[in-house]
Amino acid sequence: MTTITANLQAIHTRIASAARQSCRNPDDITLLAVSKTWPAESVRAAAAAGQRRFGENYVQEGVGKATELSGLGLEWHFIGPLQSNKTRAVAETFAWVHSVDRLKIAERLAEQRPEALPPLQVCVQVNVSNEASKHGVPLDAAGALMMQIARLPRLRLRGLMAIPAPNPDYEAQRRALRPVRELFERLRADGLAIDTLSMGMSHDLEAAIAEGATLVRVGTAIFGERSKAGA
Ligand SMILES: *Cc1c(COP(=O)(O)O)cnc(C)c1O
Repeated sequence: MTTITANLQAIHTRIASAARQSCRNPDDITLLAVSKTWPAESVRAAAAAGQRRFGENYVQEGVGKATELSGLGLEWHFIGPLQSNKTRAVAETFAWVHSVDRLKIAERLAEQRPEALPPLQVCVQVNVSNEASKHGVPLDAAGALMMQIARLPRLRLRGLMAIPAPNPDYEAQRRALRPVRELFERLRADGLAIDTLSMGMSHDLEAAIAEGATLVRVGTAIFGERSKAGA
């Protein structure tokens, strides 16, 4: 068994036990394997072990791997900061974008999504680390942005994404993610048809699952430590 195969099994075990602890069904939690900085061969190894969904942070790198591995039937998610001059490549290549944080980016993705492809699945990234990050829309502005995005053609609004500042403490991890869950539930109660809460990484996926995550984005715990340059 390769390391990647063993790591994937260990992550599925972590997801299942965190789900059970919260009386949730493990099948309601999707694993996104974050392959940024790793070569296509690593993705191939994970795919051979049954992993289908992969996340990338850098447009060119992601497009390169998606193109090279197009025969494998994988689903590619863009999860990194997105500048407006890179939206076309993302709209043409990826199935999902988790990191939309302003209307202009969503409008460009809608305009540039090819008619021949299914709608681009979109999450709005919220900023839960305040000063620590310049990415993501403030929690109190997310609802209005989502209402606008929900009206755009060729996009399908799916939910919220968050990247809290790293914290080793489980309770602190939960506290950081709780406002995202509360916003998600409020928006659903207001009638927004969203189903995805994209939060949880290698170090905090248990806390994220306890706070209702439906998709966890895991890199290091599957592929290993990234070299500093690509971290
Ligand atoms: C790198 C990255 C991940 C994966 O982080 P790990 O700590 O390696 O699991 C998840 N989400 C985003 C947005 C990332 O950039």
